[in-house]
Amino acid sequence: MEAIEKKVKKTIGSNKLIEKGDKVAVAHSGGKDSSNLLFLLNDIFKDNPSVKLFVISVNEGIKGYKDKAVKKSENFCRKLGIEQHVFSFKKEFGFSVDDLVKKIKSGYCGNCGLLRRYLLNKEARGLGATKLATGHNLDDECQSILMNVLKGDLLRLVRVGPMPHISKHLKFIPRIKPLILIPENESELFARINNIPFHPKKCPYSVDNPLRGKTRNFLNSLEETSPGIKFSLYGSAHRMKSFIIKKFKRDKIRSCKKCGEPSSQKICKVCEVLGKL
Ligand code: SF4
Ligand code: ZN
Repeated sequence: MEAIEKKVKKTIGSNKLIEKGDKVAVAHSGGKDSSNLLFLLNDIFKDNPSVKLFVISVNEGIKGYKDKAVKKSENFCRKLGIEQHVFSFKKEFGFSVDDLVKKIKSGYCGNCGLLRRYLLNKEARGLGATKLATGHNLDDECQSILMNVLKGDLLRLVRVGPMPHISKHLKFIPRIKPLILIPENESELFARINNIPFHPKKCPYSVDNPLRGKTRNFLNSLEETSPGIKFSLYGSAHRMKSFIIKKFKRDKIRSCKKCGEPSSQKICKVCEVLGKL
């Protein structure tokens, strides 16, 4: 437990993730990682008046899963005395993920993630956040790295690390990942030992992304025979990041003609998806 706390503090300090004057929106889903993140950030900054924390939660509308997770999240925020703002897909976009699944038979996971990131950025900005903290752990990061390589999407490796590189745009709130060096199994242990309330169930729709499931199993089996391999993979991708950023600089970011949010095209992906739906 001490090692985890130390690692998180070091990740924040050495990468200047949170500094004096920051207003940090913590994305809290009610799962173990984001609950650990909230617990740790609250512990580190509760007596520091120069940093403000608040919580943003998104209810995607997944019956029997997300409603319960959001309830857990609300109780936890109340217990810690942290201000929380809950946004729902239904209210914001007019449909829930349950509705979406009935409409499109596959690809709903990708759309769900896209809409959630859009909402988190927009609402965090609206609430005056200077940083948006997410609970990504080492395993999440390694899976994304390997999947991007397998899909030939190397440019996305600029998002590797505690502070993903994003194109400069006034409307983008910088994202931070303070738990990036914490392996998933340690994260679960940390939550259980500290009695941190979290919703343990997996989303029933996660089967929509079989590549992630297979990548997770593959990395876990490699880790069993070659301990430390996840850290090595993360380190390699991190070292390549600066080379890829040079290429990434060529991408121009403008404002979406429909919604005004940042976009690399005239119309952003979210407006495109919403239009199709
Ligand atoms: Fe959304 Fe897919 Fe995650 Fe479920 S598993 S919350 S559908 S992105
Ligand atoms: Zn748009």
